[in-house]
Amino acid sequence: MLRCPHCQQPGISPLRKAILSPGLFASCKLCQGESTLRYKSWLSAMTPGTLLMIAALFVDDSTTEWILNGIGLALIIALPLWFAPLHKD
Ligand SMILES: [Zn+2]
Repeated sequence: MLRCPHCQQPGISPLRKAILSPGLFASCKLCQGESTLRYKSWLSAMTPGTLLMIAALFVDDSTTEWILNGIGLALIIALPLWFAPLHKD
């Protein structure tokens, strides 16, 4: 579980955070406080994976295309989860 910015307890599910984007809220299981991501940190965390998936569009070799898409998708899920901090809103 991830730490909630309201109660500082691990009340946010990682799955919820992984699909969270600015304007959507994750609610804490312990205090029911709602938190969200800041657009800027979310966007910068999404950028590396997005660039890899865009690069895959221009690759002719299908193996390389699949590898780029796979890594890109993993980064799009993992980077915001690890690096985009939650904020009270
Ligand atoms: Zn909480």
